Amino acid sequence: MPELPEVEALAAYLRDRAVGHRVQRLEVASFSALKTYDPAPSAIAGKEIVDAGRHGKFLDITFDGGVHLVVHLSRAGWLHYRDAFASAAPLKPGKGPIAVRVRLDDGSGFDLTEAGTQKRLAAYLVTDPAAMVPGIAKLGPDALTADEATFAAAVRGRRGQLKGVLKDQAVLAGIGNAYSDEILHAAKLSPFAMSDRLTDAQVATLHEATQTVLNDAVGRSVGQKAAELKGEKRSGMKVHARTGLPCPVCGDNVREVSFADSSLQYCPTCQTGGKPLADRRLSRLVR
Ligand SMILES: [Zn+2]
Repeated sequence: MPELPEVEALAAYLRDRAVGHRVQRLEVASFSALKTYDPAPSAIAGKEIVDAGRHGKFLDITFDGGVHLVVHLSRAGWLHYRDAFASAAPLKPGKGPIAVRVRLDDGSGFDLTEAGTQKRLAAYLVTDPAAMVPGIAKLGPDALTADEATFAAAVRGRRGQLKGVLKDQAVLAGIGNAYSDEILHAAKLSPFAMSDRLTDAQVATLHEATQTVLNDAVGRSVGQKAAELKGEKRSGMKVHARTGLPCPVCGDNVREVSFADSSLQYCPTCQTGGKPLADRRLSRLVR
């Protein structure tokens, strides 16, 4: 699932590759993916791409005239940049993983794709992303740029276990399942620690860990081609998706425990005083 660093890298790639080009055609193959109807996709033809950026995990592509294509890639969505398309024929609706295709004036362009059967990728053509895209108005401060005071107020303002608080887009925008594991490992904090019980020093450490982990990931990702970003994301991970492997910091085995509707990975020696966390969901079932 793309998180802040990957979306930042996709935006950087589009700024480098697509800005300055005009749209030849915007094709929609998955009508459930496009959440808006005004302006129509046909209204984008002839417009120049003037910028690409993001709001948390939302990618925002700006066309001249102030129209934006905003995309939430969700769990299995991705952006594939094509130097050329094999066929000039418009996409057939409802077939295959391509939801939206944008063809540019130099023959290149990009596809928004979604693997799997659960279709959750969401695209919006809007003139005002903050007002018109559900979710953007509710985003908390950006996790990459929040200063320590803003970060502290955000984290302490929502009482809960740190794993859930960091992933809550209304608290901090941009962090998902993978980078929350990495940030908590870098901060040497338990994923189950309560946000409102952190000392000032722990909050400062958590802020610094967030900056370090996200900046490192952005640094590794930016400049990579979109197709290589997924592998790049995985290569930098110390605990996420590494259950049973040695922690690169201390050598202890990375462990996994269920959390909400998913699972998290952590290092007991680095984060929980050497004690494995109890799997609360499992113990509830057993009892
Ligand atoms: Zn460790």
